[in-house]
Amino acid sequence: MENMGLKISIAHLYPRLMNLYGDLGNIITLKKRCEWRGIEVEFSEINSGDNVGVHDLFFIGGGQDRQQEDVASELFSHKNELITQRDDGAVFLGICGGYQLFGHYYKPHDKDKLPGISLMNAYTVAGSKRFIGNVTVKTNFLTPNTLVGFENHSGLTYLEEGCEPLGVVTVGNGNNGKDGFEGGRYKNVFGTYLHGSLLPKNPHFADYLIELALEKRYGERISLSPLDDKYEWNAHESVVAKAY
Ligand code: GLN
Repeated sequence: MENMGLKISIAHLYPRLMNLYGDLGNIITLKKRCEWRGIEVEFSEINSGDNVGVHDLFFIGGGQDRQQEDVASELFSHKNELITQRDDGAVFLGICGGYQLFGHYYKPHDKDKLPGISLMNAYTVAGSKRFIGNVTVKTNFLTPNTLVGFENHSGLTYLEEGCEPLGVVTVGNGNNGKDGFEGGRYKNVFGTYLHGSLLPKNPHFADYLIELALEKRYGERISLSPLDDKYEWNAHESVVAKAY
């Protein structure tokens, strides 16, 4: 295990409220892929009333509108310190409802806007139909260049200047079913509609995030030792194969 002795701190934001469709699997994947390499993980759950602390990687899962309403004002109270950590290179991964709160706002049906924390220049409005199904995405920063997952959302997310998509949708709807994009990225902040959960079936993206978190902590890019990912890639390829 070449990465023995390294450490990263991971914070799970509001897991009791924002954890839809197995999104906890992303935290399990990050922890195991570090543990298997001898990388120590300092793990924190951030629940209502907690300080967010300082971490190398933050994760927030999806949630129905009701849970988003419960979380939004609390998350917003930490906006400035999270933006500061974003600018210091911290890694953020938000899934669906969590992704929506990474933007400036989420406007549910017939309700006032929920404030986002503006980690990325994006916004979301509730759409008239629900996007449900498998999604495949072509990225320009991963090898192989595919990301796979499952979407279930009515929110339509629009990226604005400086915010890049994770990639182009080849199957499914993605951000809004119109512009062909899925997800968003600004600096080391990543948002996506891909449940599944995402990272077990996309080990290359999990390792990409871990390497960014290590770089934030140690100030240099550290290559991760390879793992036997045959089961992960079987799962990935099975979704890609079904898509075409
Ligand atoms: N409530 C949001 C929507 O329906 C997010 C749902 C989710 O996290 N899956 O778009």
